[in-house]
Formats: sequence, C-alpha cells, structure tokens
Amino acid sequence: MKTAVTYRLCPRCFRAVPEASAEVYCPNDGVKLLTACPACGAPITSPYSHFCVRCGCDFTSSVPKGGEADQN
Ligand SMILES: [Zn+2]
Ligand SMILES: [Zn+2]
Repeated sequence: MKTAVTYRLCPRCFRAVPEASAEVYCPNDGVKLLTACPACGAPITSPYSHFCVRCGCDFTSSVPKGGEADQN
C-alpha cells in the first residue's frame, strides 16, 4: 500500500511544502497555503501544480485581493 504524498502550495509564489510540514502560511509573502483545491477539494499531489488536476481551477485565483502592494 502506497500512501499518496500531498503538498501545501502557495497560490501566489507557488512555493510547495509537504503536507507533513507544519507550515500554514507562506514565508515569502504571508499568503495562506492551500492544502487542497479551493474549488473541488482535490488534494494537491504535485509540488509543481499551478492548476487543479481534477477541475482545472487556477490556484492563483484563490489569492485574496488587496493587502500589500504587489511590486513586480
Ligand atoms: Zn508564497
Ligand atoms: Zn479542483
């Protein structure tokens, strides 16, 4: 039996950490890490995910608007 590893993912900078990590917020920008797809709840099974593999939801769309200025 193989247990699938899932990840926590920052929807802003896409930093990913294993779900076993205790991190809840991204240390880079303070955005709360996603533990699953915000639209359908599918687990994040790849640290390189930018979109949900089940529903195609764009993870960046879950980043709250406003807050600190985005200086790109
Ligand atoms: Zn981040
Ligand atoms: Zn989804």
